Amino acid sequence: MRRIFFISFIGISLFVSGCAQQNLPVVVNNNDTWSPSGILEHGSREAKVVALTFDADMTPKMKNDLKTGVVQSWYEKGVIDILEKNQVPATLFLTGMWAEIYPDVTRELGANPLFEIGNHSYDHGAFHMPCYGLGEVKDRSDEVMKTQGVLKELVGYAPKYFRFPGGCGASDDVALVSQLGLQVVGWDDISGDAYIRDRAEPIVTQTIKNAQNGSIIVFHMHGGHTAPQTVHALQAVIDGLRKEGFGFVKVSEL
Ligand SMILES: [Zn+2]
Repeated sequence: MRRIFFISFIGISLFVSGCAQQNLPVVVNNNDTWSPSGILEHGSREAKVVALTFDADMTPKMKNDLKTGVVQSWYEKGVIDILEKNQVPATLFLTGMWAEIYPDVTRELGANPLFEIGNHSYDHGAFHMPCYGLGEVKDRSDEVMKTQGVLKELVGYAPKYFRFPGGCGASDDVALVSQLGLQVVGWDDISGDAYIRDRAEPIVTQTIKNAQNGSIIVFHMHGGHTAPQTVHALQAVIDGLRKEGFGFVKVSEL
Protein backbone atom coordinates (compact mmCIF):
# COMPACT_ATOMS: atom_id res chain seq x y z
CA MET A 1 0.00 0.00 0.00
CA ARG A 2 1.32 3.36 -0.93
CA ARG A 3 1.87 5.69 1.89
CA ILE A 4 1.44 9.37 1.30
CA PHE A 5 3.84 11.78 2.85
CA PHE A 6 2.46 15.17 3.46
CA ILE A 7 4.58 17.43 5.49
CA SER A 8 3.16 19.92 7.86
CA PHE A 9 3.75 21.67 11.09
CA ILE A 10 1.76 21.74 14.24
CA GLY A 11 0.67 25.22 14.95
CA ILE A 12 -1.98 27.75 14.81
CA SER A 13 -3.43 26.84 11.54
CA LEU A 14 -2.88 24.24 8.99
CA PHE A 15 -0.89 25.55 6.11
CA VAL A 16 -0.14 23.45 3.14
CA SER A 17 2.40 24.52 0.66
CA GLY A 18 3.47 25.28 -2.59
CA CYS A 19 1.16 25.13 -5.35
CA ALA A 20 -1.07 24.22 -2.57
CA GLN A 21 -4.51 24.85 -1.43
CA GLN A 22 -6.21 24.24 1.84
CA ASN A 23 -8.52 21.54 3.18
CA LEU A 24 -6.21 18.74 2.26
CA PRO A 25 -5.36 15.52 4.00
CA VAL A 26 -2.26 16.07 5.99
CA VAL A 27 -0.30 13.62 8.03
CA VAL A 28 1.73 15.34 10.65
CA ASN A 29 5.32 14.33 10.56
CA ASN A 30 7.14 15.89 13.44
CA ASN A 31 10.07 13.57 13.80
CA ASP A 32 12.76 15.07 15.91
CA THR A 33 15.50 13.89 13.66
CA TRP A 34 16.00 12.92 10.05
CA SER A 35 12.84 11.57 8.58
CA PRO A 36 12.81 7.77 8.40
CA SER A 37 10.70 8.15 5.28
CA GLY A 38 13.72 9.06 3.21
CA ILE A 39 12.64 12.69 3.01
CA LEU A 40 15.03 15.23 4.46
CA GLU A 41 12.77 17.60 6.36
CA HIS A 42 15.35 19.34 8.51
CA GLY A 43 18.92 19.10 9.63
CA SER A 44 20.50 18.67 13.02
CA ARG A 45 18.64 20.36 15.87
CA GLU A 46 21.97 21.18 17.50
CA ALA A 47 23.18 24.09 15.41
CA LYS A 48 21.28 27.36 15.29
CA VAL A 49 21.03 27.56 11.53
CA VAL A 50 18.22 27.29 9.00
CA ALA A 51 18.17 26.61 5.27
CA LEU A 52 16.07 28.86 3.09
CA THR A 53 14.79 27.09 -0.02
CA PHE A 54 13.00 28.60 -3.01
CA ASP A 55 10.98 26.64 -5.57
CA ALA A 56 10.61 27.81 -9.15
CA ASP A 57 7.44 26.17 -10.43
CA MET A 58 6.47 25.92 -14.09
CA THR A 59 3.38 24.05 -15.21
CA PRO A 60 2.18 23.92 -18.82
CA LYS A 61 -0.51 26.44 -17.84
CA MET A 62 2.04 28.79 -16.32
CA LYS A 63 4.10 28.53 -19.48
CA ASN A 64 1.04 29.31 -21.57
CA ASP A 65 0.14 32.30 -19.39
CA LEU A 66 3.62 33.64 -20.04
CA LYS A 67 3.32 33.05 -23.76
CA THR A 68 -0.03 34.75 -24.01
CA GLY A 69 0.97 37.68 -21.83
CA VAL A 70 -1.39 36.86 -18.96
CA VAL A 71 1.72 36.89 -16.78
CA GLN A 72 4.75 39.05 -17.48
CA SER A 73 7.31 36.94 -15.68
CA TRP A 74 7.66 33.82 -13.59
CA TYR A 75 10.98 34.94 -12.18
CA GLU A 76 10.95 37.21 -9.13
CA LYS A 77 14.42 38.66 -9.41
CA GLY A 78 13.81 40.74 -6.29
CA VAL A 79 14.00 37.59 -4.20
CA ILE A 80 17.47 36.78 -5.50
CA ASP A 81 18.54 40.41 -5.10
CA ILE A 82 17.57 40.37 -1.42
CA LEU A 83 19.48 37.12 -0.83
CA GLU A 84 22.56 38.57 -2.51
CA LYS A 85 22.32 41.90 -0.72
CA ASN A 86 22.16 40.10 2.62
CA GLN A 87 24.64 37.42 1.58
CA VAL A 88 22.17 34.76 2.62
CA PRO A 89 22.80 31.38 0.98
CA ALA A 90 19.89 29.38 -0.37
CA THR A 91 18.95 26.19 -2.15
CA LEU A 92 16.89 26.80 -5.28
CA PHE A 93 14.63 24.02 -6.56
CA LEU A 94 14.08 24.65 -10.25
CA THR A 95 11.68 22.87 -12.55
CA GLY A 96 13.30 21.85 -15.82
CA MET A 97 10.80 23.84 -17.83
CA TRP A 98 11.48 26.96 -15.78
CA ALA A 99 15.20 26.56 -16.44
CA GLU A 100 14.54 26.19 -20.17
CA ILE A 101 12.50 29.39 -20.18
CA TYR A 102 15.14 31.25 -18.16
CA PRO A 103 18.43 29.68 -19.30
CA ASP A 104 20.58 32.76 -18.69
CA VAL A 105 19.17 33.26 -15.21
CA THR A 106 19.66 29.57 -14.47
CA ARG A 107 23.30 29.77 -15.58
CA GLU A 108 23.88 32.82 -13.39
CA LEU A 109 22.24 31.23 -10.37
CA GLY A 110 24.22 28.04 -10.91
CA ALA A 111 27.46 29.97 -11.10
CA ASN A 112 26.74 31.98 -7.96
CA PRO A 113 28.47 30.37 -4.95
CA LEU A 114 25.74 31.71 -2.71
CA PHE A 115 23.28 29.25 -4.21
CA GLU A 116 22.93 25.56 -4.90
CA ILE A 117 20.46 24.19 -7.43
CA GLY A 118 17.97 21.41 -6.76
CA ASN A 119 15.55 19.55 -9.03
CA HIS A 120 11.82 20.30 -8.75
CA SER A 121 10.64 17.98 -11.60
CA TYR A 122 10.28 18.96 -15.22
CA ASP A 123 6.81 20.51 -15.46
CA HIS A 124 5.55 20.40 -11.90
CA GLY A 125 3.10 17.54 -12.18
CA ALA A 126 1.89 15.40 -9.31
CA PHE A 127 3.87 12.26 -8.49
CA HIS A 128 1.03 11.19 -6.26
CA MET A 129 -2.61 12.12 -6.73
CA PRO A 130 -4.50 14.08 -5.63
CA CYS A 131 -2.12 17.00 -5.36
CA TYR A 132 -3.74 20.38 -5.13
CA GLY A 133 -5.12 20.36 -8.62
CA LEU A 134 -1.83 19.47 -10.31
CA GLY A 135 -2.03 17.06 -13.24
CA GLU A 136 -0.44 13.65 -12.77
CA VAL A 137 3.02 13.11 -14.23
CA LYS A 138 3.26 10.53 -16.99
CA ASP A 139 6.76 9.23 -16.41
CA ARG A 140 8.22 9.73 -12.96
CA SER A 141 11.77 8.80 -13.88
CA ASP A 142 11.69 11.09 -16.87
CA GLU A 143 10.47 14.00 -14.74
CA VAL A 144 13.55 13.62 -12.61
CA MET A 145 16.15 12.67 -15.21
CA LYS A 146 15.08 15.04 -17.97
CA THR A 147 15.40 17.86 -15.46
CA GLN A 148 18.78 16.57 -14.31
CA GLY A 149 19.91 16.84 -17.94
CA VAL A 150 18.53 20.34 -18.41
CA LEU A 151 20.06 21.59 -15.18
CA LYS A 152 23.41 19.90 -15.69
CA GLU A 153 23.67 21.53 -19.08
CA LEU A 154 22.94 24.98 -17.67
CA VAL A 155 24.53 25.00 -14.24
CA GLY A 156 27.35 22.57 -14.87
CA TYR A 157 26.40 19.91 -12.36
CA ALA A 158 23.56 17.47 -11.81
CA PRO A 159 21.61 18.39 -8.66
CA LYS A 160 21.80 16.16 -5.61
CA TYR A 161 18.44 17.20 -4.21
CA PHE A 162 14.88 16.73 -5.40
CA ARG A 163 11.63 18.22 -4.14
CA PHE A 164 8.22 16.84 -5.15
CA PRO A 165 5.81 19.34 -6.70
CA GLY A 166 3.32 20.16 -3.97
CA GLY A 167 5.29 17.91 -1.65
CA CYS A 168 3.18 15.03 -3.01
CA GLY A 169 5.19 11.87 -3.07
CA ALA A 170 4.36 8.35 -1.92
CA SER A 171 6.89 5.88 -0.53
CA ASP A 172 7.54 4.31 -3.92
CA ASP A 173 8.12 7.76 -5.40
CA VAL A 174 10.67 8.50 -2.71
CA ALA A 175 12.32 5.14 -3.39
CA LEU A 176 12.43 5.89 -7.10
CA VAL A 177 14.07 9.27 -6.60
CA SER A 178 16.61 7.66 -4.26
CA GLN A 179 17.36 4.97 -6.84
CA LEU A 180 17.98 7.74 -9.34
CA GLY A 181 20.63 9.05 -6.97
CA LEU A 182 18.92 12.08 -5.49
CA GLN A 183 17.93 12.96 -1.94
CA VAL A 184 14.29 14.01 -1.50
CA VAL A 185 14.02 17.27 0.39
CA GLY A 186 10.88 18.47 2.12
CA TRP A 187 10.58 21.15 4.80
CA ASP A 188 9.53 21.65 8.39
CA ASP A 189 8.77 25.36 8.16
CA ILE A 190 6.32 26.48 5.53
CA SER A 191 6.31 30.17 4.70
CA GLY A 192 2.88 30.05 3.13
CA ASP A 193 3.96 32.40 0.36
CA ALA A 194 2.04 30.41 -2.25
CA TYR A 195 -1.34 31.17 -0.79
CA ILE A 196 -1.03 34.31 1.34
CA ARG A 197 -1.28 36.64 -1.59
CA ASP A 198 -2.49 39.91 -0.17
CA ARG A 199 -0.11 40.60 2.72
CA ALA A 200 3.50 39.87 3.56
CA GLU A 201 3.19 40.13 7.33
CA PRO A 202 1.61 36.70 8.00
CA ILE A 203 4.36 35.07 5.95
CA VAL A 204 7.00 36.80 8.07
CA THR A 205 5.31 35.98 11.35
CA GLN A 206 4.65 32.31 10.79
CA THR A 207 7.99 31.62 9.16
CA ILE A 208 9.90 33.04 12.11
CA LYS A 209 7.57 31.51 14.67
CA ASN A 210 8.02 28.01 13.25
CA ALA A 211 11.76 28.15 12.69
CA GLN A 212 13.81 25.70 14.73
CA ASN A 213 17.44 24.74 14.69
CA GLY A 214 18.08 22.97 11.41
CA SER A 215 14.78 23.97 9.82
CA ILE A 216 14.29 23.78 6.08
CA ILE A 217 12.06 26.68 5.11
CA VAL A 218 10.12 26.65 1.85
CA PHE A 219 9.41 29.71 -0.27
CA HIS A 220 8.82 30.28 -3.98
CA MET A 221 10.83 32.39 -6.40
CA HIS A 222 8.49 32.47 -9.37
CA GLY A 223 6.48 35.46 -8.16
CA GLY A 224 3.59 36.35 -10.45
CA HIS A 225 0.13 36.16 -8.97
CA THR A 226 0.76 32.82 -7.25
CA ALA A 227 3.60 33.96 -4.98
CA PRO A 228 3.44 37.75 -5.06
CA GLN A 229 4.39 38.44 -1.45
CA THR A 230 7.64 36.50 -1.16
CA VAL A 231 9.67 39.48 -2.28
CA HIS A 232 7.91 41.73 0.23
CA ALA A 233 8.32 39.32 3.13
CA LEU A 234 11.87 38.11 2.63
CA GLN A 235 13.89 40.98 4.10
CA ALA A 236 11.81 40.95 7.29
CA VAL A 237 12.12 37.16 7.48
CA ILE A 238 15.91 37.38 7.23
CA ASP A 239 16.08 40.20 9.77
CA GLY A 240 13.74 38.39 12.15
CA LEU A 241 15.60 35.10 11.98
CA ARG A 242 18.94 36.88 12.50
CA LYS A 243 17.47 38.66 15.51
CA GLU A 244 16.51 35.24 16.91
CA GLY A 245 20.12 34.20 16.48
CA PHE A 246 19.79 32.01 13.41
CA GLY A 247 22.46 31.73 10.78
CA PHE A 248 21.79 30.63 7.21
CA VAL A 249 23.15 27.65 5.32
CA LYS A 250 22.38 25.68 2.18
CA VAL A 251 20.59 22.33 2.50
CA SER A 252 23.90 20.58 1.80
CA GLU A 253 25.45 22.33 4.81
CA LEU A 254 22.72 21.45 7.30
ZN1 LIG B 1 6.46 23.71 -6.51
